[in-house]
Amino acid sequence: MAFPERLDIPTDVLDISNTLEGAGFEAWCVGGAIRDTLLGEANSDFDIATSATPEQVRALFPHNVPVGEKYGTIAVRSRRRFHEVTTFRQDVRTDGRHAEVQFGVSLEEDLARRDFTINAIAYHPIRQEWRDPFDGAADLDQRTVRAVGEAGRRFGEDYLRILRALRFAARFEFKIDTPTWDAALAAAPGLVNLSAERVRDEWFKGLRTTRSIERLVDLWWKVGAAKVWLPELVQEPRPQLPAAPAGAVRAPERRQSLVGRREERSAALPELTGVHGATLRRDPVLLTILLCLDPVAVLVRLKASNAEIARAAAVLAGRPEPEGATPVAVRRWLSAVGDAADDLEMLWELRHRVAPIWEPVMRGIRERGEPLTRKELAITGADLQSAGVPPGPAMGNLLERLLAMVVDDPALNTREVLLARARSLR
Ligand code: ATP
Ligand code: MG
Repeated sequence: MAFPERLDIPTDVLDISNTLEGAGFEAWCVGGAIRDTLLGEANSDFDIATSATPEQVRALFPHNVPVGEKYGTIAVRSRRRFHEVTTFRQDVRTDGRHAEVQFGVSLEEDLARRDFTINAIAYHPIRQEWRDPFDGAADLDQRTVRAVGEAGRRFGEDYLRILRALRFAARFEFKIDTPTWDAALAAAPGLVNLSAERVRDEWFKGLRTTRSIERLVDLWWKVGAAKVWLPELVQEPRPQLPAAPAGAVRAPERRQSLVGRREERSAALPELTGVHGATLRRDPVLLTILLCLDPVAVLVRLKASNAEIARAAAVLAGRPEPEGATPVAVRRWLSAVGDAADDLEMLWELRHRVAPIWEPVMRGIRERGEPLTRKELAITGADLQSAGVPPGPAMGNLLERLLAMVVDDPALNTREVLLARARSLR
């Protein structure tokens, strides 16, 4: 691939580069944004590699957050956006999950510590120069994920790279170069050394960005990652899953793919209709529920947040769908499943690839604000107490019965009716 003469670099990134270069340091754009832009995919998340040390970066940019200072990474604010500025570095010691790093190295050495050739291309945003010592351009052309340097050694330095290879292959529909794949297979048992958080972030990112969930699942099994971290993952996911949202944003039309495949690939994307957008369909928690046999155990193992684990548990506890599409049936279901309703509806949609016929019914119920919880009843426990109902289980029971009544007929949700009914039920 011949590199374009120049890339459109966002002004906020140019400002950072100008400041660094003006102070006598080198500043290069590297990593995912360069790769994605060359592939014709939008990515404004530009990373900057620099010869300035982290302290020098902090001194030049008063608005900064030392997100990974030990590793040389400072997030720098420019025109309200943050970009990561990372000092050229080399990994001097690694244990498969952490690296001890050394600064004061050249751009070429910095590119050499990066994982894949497609991620090791640098562009100078001011001089419009390219550096591609590992021929990442050829791999972009050939749609190949290839390790920088000796793959076996590179995976041994950081096992996460195995999962990253799978993610990029699944996201771009790239093949994995044979020596890289063989090394990944051989190194996969070492995945056990990774922290659950890093594995979770990779798994979630993979789910969000892959073009085909089947491919991602297949790769996780084939390389041996599922065996180590996700044995509950269903090997051949039956449900037809929606195609990837193709990144958060699509590239503007003028940014033509340099490998000439973008149009083809976007044409292959089915129209994502239904009430929920593509982003929600790629909710990693929901997809984990859909794809794994014991999703709660999986999320616990991956150290997902308590909220995420609770969400999965609520989904599993809820009835998957209402008994019918009548307003009464749908209200009963909504009332029973509570907060899990949206997740259950999304799962239904993911499994069947169409929105359920009860979805508009559900929307109507919500739009009309029909009562579904005790809190929405036109009377409270205090009202019942003044009407002579003693607090305690009997009152709870009574409120439940009143709720069941108004769920079946929302017109009954008035103070008078409910008080009268409470008296007769007592
Ligand atoms: P995306 O942000 O789309 O996931 P990316 O390639 O930008 O993809 P980041 O995690 O943002 O990935 O990392 C930025 C760059 O840092 C990568 O392109 C790569 O050059 C390098 N890098 C990231 N993680 C590793 C790693 N584990 N080993 C080696 N290099 C890495
Ligand atoms: Mg990135």
